[in-house]
Amino acid sequence: MNNEVLLQAQDVKQHFTVKKERGQKATLYAVDGVTLSIYKGETFGLVGESGCGKSTLGKTFLRLYPLTGGKIIFDGKDISRLRGRGLKEFRCKSQMIFQDPSSCLNPRRKISEILSEPFVIHGMLTGEERRRRILELCDMVGLSSQYLERYPHEMSGGQKQRVGIARALALNPQMIICDEPVSALDVSIQAQVINLLEDLQKQLSLTYLFISHNLSVVKHCCQRIGVMYLGKIVELAPADRIYQDARHPYTQALISAIPIIDDGSSEPVPPQIVLSGDLPSPTDPPVGCAFHTRCPHVMERCRRERPSLQEVEPEHFVSCFLYEQHP
Ligand code: SF4
Repeated sequence: MNNEVLLQAQDVKQHFTVKKERGQKATLYAVDGVTLSIYKGETFGLVGESGCGKSTLGKTFLRLYPLTGGKIIFDGKDISRLRGRGLKEFRCKSQMIFQDPSSCLNPRRKISEILSEPFVIHGMLTGEERRRRILELCDMVGLSSQYLERYPHEMSGGQKQRVGIARALALNPQMIICDEPVSALDVSIQAQVINLLEDLQKQLSLTYLFISHNLSVVKHCCQRIGVMYLGKIVELAPADRIYQDARHPYTQALISAIPIIDDGSSEPVPPQIVLSGDLPSPTDPPVGCAFHTRCPHVMERCRRERPSLQEVEPEHFVSCFLYEQHP
């Protein structure tokens, strides 16, 4: 990993208009002012509870939605408002691996046809060249060529995820958004898929955004981690800092919930921090700090003012009044 930025998000907002009861409309603040950078060659982990906006942020980085606000710079180019041909070209450089391989592969198509799709859509490679590239992709992800004539339902979950990875690699992308890529797989297969992603990253100098609700998984494969809560990044730091010295009360609660294996040591196990209440609705986020309705350290000020993301030590950013830096 170097410190050359591949993707830079500046105050990115992704809001949606949704219908509520009796036909009333409301704004859903799925991503609400995210600023971060992803370096070339790194695996950046994005964690948070279900519904915090992490998958929407990944899709926003792929420009699957028209951006509500802010800016996305990819490899030095502003892609925030790209359309048409420019957007299609950008999509060759950035791809996605989905959570559930069963639902993202067309059940009526053979694997050979599924792996041909990127070339058909982008009008690239034909005939023997395409076939050679598909065989190369199978080889890269450890999938026997005998599967090319099968349908997705004839494969295991791990094999289907390998097809998903091969399809994401087809156009030689620079960056891959891995959206919960192992959470639908058996535990025994999860490590194989993570090892495969790591090997491919080394071979192809790929950059990953690794989205997960599981901090144990992220711990083993990410260099830096961003913790998201209700559409915002509340803590961002190198992975070891997050696990050894989490500062934000929400991150501390997530870390404390990681199961600890009893190895017979006499080290005391830190108590689990149990958060009260559920994630508030993103259509009606709390005023002030978005976490104040569940925070064990809430102060009067937190109910009125919103903390900003501040650097509390080199490369470690926290959004909480407990760590406010005074000039
Ligand atoms: Fe808790 Fe206040 Fe910090 Fe928010 S700003 S995390 S409510 S202490």
